Amino acid sequence: MTEKNINKNSSFDLLILGSGSTAFAAALRAAELGKTAAMTEMRTLGGTCVNRGCLPSKNLIEAARIVWEASHPRYAGLEPVKMKFDFGELIAQKDGVVHGYRDKKYQSIVYEEDKIKVFNGQATLIDAHTALVGEQKISGEQILIATGTRPTIPHIESLDRVPYLTSDLLTSDELQELKELPASLVIVGGGYIALELGQMFHRFGTKVTILERSQVILPNYEPEVSEALTFALRDEGIHLVTEAQAISVLQKSDDEIEIVALVGGIKQSFKAQKLLVATGREPNTDNVGLDKVGVQLDKRGFVKVNDELQTNVPNMWAAGDVIGHQTESQLATPVGAHDGVIVAKNALTNAHQKVDHRVIPRTIFTDPQVAVVGMTDAEANGTGIRCWCGTIPLELVPRAEATHQSNGIAKMVINNDTHEVVGVSLVMPNAGEVIHEAAMALRFRSKLEDYIEMIHVYPTMAEALKIAAISYFKDPAKLSCCAE
Ligand SMILES: Cc1cc2nc3c(=O)[nH]c(=O)nc-3n(C[C@H](O)[C@H](O)[C@H](O)COP(=O)(O)OP(=O)(O)OC[C@H]3O[C@@H](n4cnc5c(N)ncnc54)[C@H](O)[C@@H]3O)c2cc1C
Repeated sequence: MTEKNINKNSSFDLLILGSGSTAFAAALRAAELGKTAAMTEMRTLGGTCVNRGCLPSKNLIEAARIVWEASHPRYAGLEPVKMKFDFGELIAQKDGVVHGYRDKKYQSIVYEEDKIKVFNGQATLIDAHTALVGEQKISGEQILIATGTRPTIPHIESLDRVPYLTSDLLTSDELQELKELPASLVIVGGGYIALELGQMFHRFGTKVTILERSQVILPNYEPEVSEALTFALRDEGIHLVTEAQAISVLQKSDDEIEIVALVGGIKQSFKAQKLLVATGREPNTDNVGLDKVGVQLDKRGFVKVNDELQTNVPNMWAAGDVIGHQTESQLATPVGAHDGVIVAKNALTNAHQKVDHRVIPRTIFTDPQVAVVGMTDAEANGTGIRCWCGTIPLELVPRAEATHQSNGIAKMVINNDTHEVVGVSLVMPNAGEVIHEAAMALRFRSKLEDYIEMIHVYPTMAEALKIAAISYFKDPAKLSCCAE
C-alpha cells in the first residue's frame, strides 16, 4: 500500500484495535517497516498507562512520599513538620504531567508520522479484515487486538446502588477523576493497585482500610515479601484486613458508605466516606465483535495466542494486557510495548519471532518497593528444580542501616545443582531500580558466584544481591564491610 492511499480509502497494512502502549509500539514499528497503520480509540489516546495507570499513579505516589517523610523523619535530630499541601493543585499538576507526556510521546508521534492514523470511537469487527468505528469502515490486511483491560467489578450486594471509585480515579480527562481527598476510604482488594493507591491516600492523610480476600496480601509472591510489606503498611498505620470478603454495601448518607465483609467468616462492617473497588482487571474483549470473526478466548475472556502472538484467525494478532498471562506474559506496559513490536514484525514481514517472557522484572511502587524477577521458591520447586533459597534481612545491607531504612528483605532462589540464580525478590527502597541487575543476570543465566565476584558500589541497596548470594556459603552477619 502507498502512503497516498491512507486518507482515501481507510485501508491499512495493520489495523490496530486500541491506542495504548502496545498499539503505539506496533504502529511505530509498522511505519519503520514502510507500512501503514491505523489505531482506534474509544477513550483517550495513549490508553491506560499514560492516562490513568502508571504515570499518574507514580506522580502522586512520589508526592505522597514527600509529604509523609516530612512528618515522619527517619533521623534523630530531624524535627517532623506537617507539610501543607493543596490536593486540588496536586491533581492539576498530575493532569499537566499526563497531558505533557501524552502530547510528547503519543499525540505528536501521530501528527509527525504520516503512515499512522488514529480513529476515535469504539471499533467493532465486522469481518476478519474490517472494523466499524461509528459509520466508518476501516480495513487492515493484518489486525492487532490491543484493547487492554478494565477494572473488574466484583459481585457485591447493592454495589450498583452506591457510588464507588476504581483505578480510573487517576484519569485526567474523564468524569471518573477524583479531585478531592477523601477523609476515609475502604478499598476492596489487596493487589498491587490497591496497595499502591492505599498507601498513597494514607500518606496524604486519608484514613485507609484495605480488605483483602486471601489470608495474606500478594499470595503469589514469596511469603517473605508479603510478610515484610504487611509489616511496613501496618506499621505506618494502614488498616489492612486479610481474609476479608466484601459481601454488601450500603449508602448510609451522602458522606458515608458502609461495607459489610466476612472477616475469617464473621460479619464485620467498615464505614468510610469513599469506596474504592480494586479487585483486578478484566479484558476488553466483549466490545470488539471477536465472536463474529471466531477469535478464541480463554476462560477469563483473554485472547488466546500462540508464541508468535497470532490468534486462531491467521491475520489476527493480539498483545499487551488483552492476552493476560498467555505465553507467561504479565500485564505491564513494557511487556505490551515489547510484544507490539513483535506483532508488527510477524504480521508484516513474516518474521516468525517467538515471544520470550522468561525474564520480566516487575515492581510494586509501595514504600518500601517490592520488585521481583524469575521464579519464586514454590514455582521453582513446581518445575522440578532442586533449589536453595537464601533470604537476608535488610539490616545486613550497609546502605539500609546507614540511612535508617532497614525494613525489608532480599531473597534469592537458585538451582542447587548448577548454582544458576532462577529468581530474586526484593522489598526495599528503590527495589525497582535494583531488580535490573538481577534481571540482566537472569537473562544471561548467571550463577550465584557471579553476584559475589562482581564488585558492587558501596554503600548501595544493590549490595543486598551480593550479600544474599554470599549467604549460601557463610553467615553474612559475620562479614566486615564489603568482604566476600
Ligand atoms: C492504576 C494502574 C497503575 C499501573 N501502573 C503500572 C506501572 O507502574 N508499570 C507498568 O508497567 N504497568 C502499570 N500498569 C499497567 C499498564 O497500565 C498496562 O499494562 C498497560 O497500559 C497495557 O497497555 P495496552 O496497550 O495493552 O492496553 P491499554 O493501555 O489499556 O490500551 C487499550 C486501549 O484500547 C481501548 N479500547 C478498548 N476496546 C476498544 C474498542 N472496542 N475500540 C476502540 N478502542 C478500544 C481502551 O480504551 C484503551 O485505551 C498500571 C495499571 C493501572 C490501572
